Amino acid sequence: MSDLETFIRDVPDFPKKGIIFKDISPLLEQKFSETIDAIIKLIDWSEVDSIAGVESRGFIFGAAMAKALGKGFIPIRKKGKLPPPVISESYTLEYGEDSLEISTLYNKQKVVIVDDVIATGGTLKASIKLCKNANLEVISCLSLINLSFLNELDNTQIPIHSVFEY
Ligand code: AMP
Repeated sequence: MSDLETFIRDVPDFPKKGIIFKDISPLLEQKFSETIDAIIKLIDWSEVDSIAGVESRGFIFGAAMAKALGKGFIPIRKKGKLPPPVISESYTLEYGEDSLEISTLYNKQKVVIVDDVIATGGTLKASIKLCKNANLEVISCLSLINLSFLNELDNTQIPIHSVFEY
């Protein structure tokens, strides 16, 4: 696992001064399959119906995981990308503000939310809210990296698992 960590590049002051950006591009190029396996190993998948991936890097992991596990994939997208009917949720991230949307056409089911990096946790909180409001039961949240020193996510209601926690 520590081997995978060496393929994550720290980029200081990107996209804004003071942010240390976790560049996962070398990892995607050289250790993609091992990374997908490492995220999959974080939980037991027997009760999960679908993976909800957060645009855009959550799509890279979520889609590959859904294929490997034979699960459905549900996109949580940036505002204006999904056709109606959708619901929206605004959130603050480490370097800006944005809105996420999800379709309201899904049947009730159990989902796991996947993203690449959790920073302030704003994206994840908005994604959890969207899923709940779209009739999806979130049973856990997964990320490759959790910058837990930047967030105060409460792990008691919905478990959060990450391959790397800082
Ligand atoms: P947040 O809402 O603050 O938890 O931000 C999480 C989202 O922003 C994720 O989708 C990440 O892709 C991206 N992000 C935030 N901070 C970083 C960082 N330091 N390095 C890489 N990606 C980041």
